[in-house]
Amino acid sequence: MSILVIAEHDGNNLKVATRQTIAAAAQLGNDIHVLIAGDYLDNVVAQASKLEGVSKVLVAQAEHLAHALAEDAAALIVSVAASYSAILGGHSSFTRDILPRAAAQLDVGMVSDVVEIISPNSFKRPIYAGNLIATVDSEERIRVLTVRGSRFKSVDAIAGHAAEIKSLPVPVSSGKAKWVAETKGNSGRPELSTARVVVSGGRSLGSEEKFQHILNPLAETLGAAIGASRAAVDAGYAPNDTQVGQTGTLVAPDIYMAFGISGSIQHTAGIKDSKVIVAVNLDPDAPIFQVADYGLVADLFEVIPQLNNALVTE
Ligand code: FAD
Repeated sequence: MSILVIAEHDGNNLKVATRQTIAAAAQLGNDIHVLIAGDYLDNVVAQASKLEGVSKVLVAQAEHLAHALAEDAAALIVSVAASYSAILGGHSSFTRDILPRAAAQLDVGMVSDVVEIISPNSFKRPIYAGNLIATVDSEERIRVLTVRGSRFKSVDAIAGHAAEIKSLPVPVSSGKAKWVAETKGNSGRPELSTARVVVSGGRSLGSEEKFQHILNPLAETLGAAIGASRAAVDAGYAPNDTQVGQTGTLVAPDIYMAFGISGSIQHTAGIKDSKVIVAVNLDPDAPIFQVADYGLVADLFEVIPQLNNALVTE
């Protein structure tokens, strides 16, 4: 049977998570379909149809699908699910909102945050904030999975490849939830989950003003995304969508810089896939140094301006 990948997109471009999820799907089978839901989808459909391994693109266009409300998106997935042996999405807040609902309606268990596919029925996933890796076997008639994108190399477009494109009938809106508005941070910075460099700050920054004043220039110089610990977010120093960790965003940059972050297991659970971790902390015993590749025992308020000056004048 075929494998279904739920596409994540912004209306114009497919997210990297979808290309990574297709790579994971290729380990389960070779007839991969991509489901794209939304409104005005021409660009996204064109991108998906060229991707390596994709044999069919299913397109569901309707006004009520434009904002990926879980009620309507899950109903759409359930309407096509019977043809698939597995349904996959990236382990993002988008998919985590939709797929558990679809799995419940299909009456199957789901496996989330898969980091390795051992066989079509057996998967590895982190538990206890990443301190243990569990092997989970699933005998469900349809396996419903979210996969941690950074563990799978994303597929690329292939010149000349054109998957079949099929329009789907769209179930009517449930009417149970209504999209009202969304407020997006307009930082102009790279997206946190896919940024190559992340500059992160903790509670020690002390205020929203200092958080911005100290971290922004360095992030600007490095073209980095800004991250934060949950303590910094809870204190109101940084917006919610900057939280890195178990209950925030999982990051996998080339360089992750943690300034004044203690390194709780909930924080480090979200940064373990970083290639290089740099930590600056006043406390030589801070747990962050156990996962850091480079550690500096120093005051962040001195180090960050010095580092930025050195980079700017280089
Ligand atoms: P603190 O623990 O207060 O550490 C501040 C650090 O800054 C200290 O190490 C200190 O030595 C250092 N410091 C102070 N001044 C300076 C200075 N001038 N220069 C350099 N260093 C300095 N946390 C997350 O981050 N992400 C999550 O997703 C997350 N999920 C959670 C889920 C659950 C269920 C729970 C219970 C907790 C979760 N937490 C999460 C919270 C987590 O346990 C920690 O409380 C939090 O990460 C601590 O943030 P912090 O390191 O900024 O603050």
